[in-house]
Amino acid sequence: MKCGSVAPRCLIEARSVVENVVAEIPGRERTPAVALASHYDSVPAGPGAADDTIGAAVMIEVARALRSQGTLARSVWLLFTDGEEMGLLGARVLARDPELRERLGLIVNLEARGTAGASLLFETSTPNDGLLRAYARSVERPVTSSVFYAAYRELPNDTDLSVFVRAGLPGVNFAFIEGATRYHTPEDDVAHLSLESVQHHGEQALAFVRDVLTHGIPRSEHPSVFFDVLGRWLVQFSLTKARTLTVAVVALSLVLIGVLVRRLRLSWLRIGGSFAAYVVGFALAVAFGLALDPALYRLHVAHQPWPATTPVLLAALYAGAFAAFAFGTSLFRGAFEPACAFVAEWGALLVFALATAWLLPEAVFLWLVPLLVAVIGTVGFLVSRAPASALAIVALGVLVVATVLWVPHAALTVHAFGFALPALAAGIAALVLFPLVPFVAHLGERTRRIVALGCGAACVAFSLLGSLLPAHSAGAPQRANIGYHVDATRGAARLLLDAPSVPPGFHGNVAFTRNADDRYPWFGIIQPAFFRAPADRLEQPVPSIRELSRESRASERVIEIALAPGSDDALSLVLGAPRGALLEAFVEGERVVPLDVADWSLFGVVSPGAAGVRVRLRVRGEEPLPVRVVEHRSGLPPRYRALSVFRNGPATQSQLGDLTMVSTDVRL
Ligand SMILES: [Zn+2]
Repeated sequence: MKCGSVAPRCLIEARSVVENVVAEIPGRERTPAVALASHYDSVPAGPGAADDTIGAAVMIEVARALRSQGTLARSVWLLFTDGEEMGLLGARVLARDPELRERLGLIVNLEARGTAGASLLFETSTPNDGLLRAYARSVERPVTSSVFYAAYRELPNDTDLSVFVRAGLPGVNFAFIEGATRYHTPEDDVAHLSLESVQHHGEQALAFVRDVLTHGIPRSEHPSVFFDVLGRWLVQFSLTKARTLTVAVVALSLVLIGVLVRRLRLSWLRIGGSFAAYVVGFALAVAFGLALDPALYRLHVAHQPWPATTPVLLAALYAGAFAAFAFGTSLFRGAFEPACAFVAEWGALLVFALATAWLLPEAVFLWLVPLLVAVIGTVGFLVSRAPASALAIVALGVLVVATVLWVPHAALTVHAFGFALPALAAGIAALVLFPLVPFVAHLGERTRRIVALGCGAACVAFSLLGSLLPAHSAGAPQRANIGYHVDATRGAARLLLDAPSVPPGFHGNVAFTRNADDRYPWFGIIQPAFFRAPADRLEQPVPSIRELSRESRASERVIEIALAPGSDDALSLVLGAPRGALLEAFVEGERVVPLDVADWSLFGVVSPGAAGVRVRLRVRGEEPLPVRVVEHRSGLPPRYRALSVFRNGPATQSQLGDLTMVSTDVRL
């Protein structure tokens, strides 16, 4: 099947032959059918055991389990897609099929962004209330949160489900995301695959499909806020009610705080001081995260979000956050006594809830649930006329509920982003610790100072340890792809390295130096090459550019060219022109949007095939336009293949892996 780009904002025009495998288990009702989907391709650098062979294996096992029950109530389809990693190609072909669009009523997609962990329901189509009710009643171990989906939506990542949803099909998406260091590397193999993850994937897919066979395709009318409780129960409510609910909880909280302050004769000034202690503590914790950012960059882990030192760095963040809070409370000494600290904590939760309800309503439950505990606990406290010290029990309730709710989210943030955003990691550490702070008020002033100093010392010690230990190891390798680049126009060749630092094995064996003057944004498709080393010029097939036609209009020209790779097995062709010169680009009539990188505007054609493609460029000006075309092929020439042994251990290939790249420059 032939495939072309369908996304209007696409950088890459894919021209590729994909082979999807589609199977149907016919049911008594043929329409609407439910489909399980997974992709069976992988990236060139890895075997793709978790991403996504296991999705396909789970589908086959689910199909076997379903068929063992006799004739099904409705048809179940199995969609094994091809070319997902190269731009969701197989799914795009399927989504255009009128029969498929007519007959399918729901997609259950199975994915992975790591090799371990719980199978998360991380995405749904919108609206989703019916889908979530079906999920809640069918799945025994739900693991989900509307926060995941809201965060995922903001990222540039896509899976096949995005294509099906854009084609108007509702669907759910399951993936596990732990063990991200092995994702898209040679270590995404069966040996490193978590069997618990496979089991969870299978349980959820089977239970969900069975539910659809029993109750029909779920009808959804509203977007929802949702989360699981301890992997046992699912809570959901309508997103449109999030703000009303927040305002109600805030109003109720303010009344109760007013009564509490009068009953205990608390001073507003002291409450304000306690609140300021929280603000200072929080600000200091985030500032520490920001300070960590350049330090991590210097350690070359900025491009390695999960360094080998991750547990040590997390310990530094948590110790630093608690030290910051303890220090903040010591600044407002007199103000920080238990009841005032509790009211201030309550106030901070209200601020978070109000801000979230307007900025990211999918996350509002993170504050609403602890707030409800504060409300109910305080009503109990006021009605029972308990002594002031009993307020600690309410604060403990808030701490327990917040911990149960926040810690799994905090842990998943580490699996999702690692240290890509140290300030976010530090902010989350401060958030998780923040309900502990009222208990600091119970400590004497001296003890509090000792706690602040102790945590501060622990933070410094962990930070030092983190900077001394190697950032990369066999379990958390640095990603490093080797490239062999032939500049056919200048008759030159060199080795390139796509990695933030040179792996130790290369020292003394390959003379890599920093590629400062020419960042070469052509590695893979748009990756820079940070290092280069001299290499011999070896004969390599060169891509060809042939002008087919040209037209001049006013101050611009339309040039049509035939672009063909030098070899049959080219992975991609990337065309670049000086930034600002390209007004429009079309590949086989489909518009592509070039990406601006360094001085270039680039776009790629994936799997161009031996025949190549026709490209139409609308360019600015009358002057001849310098154009560079780079052809990528998997792997290194035989003479340089042995170089990969120098990488072994603390570094690994990833994504497109090692590449041979041949560039040619022309003027159009
Ligand atoms: Zn995948």
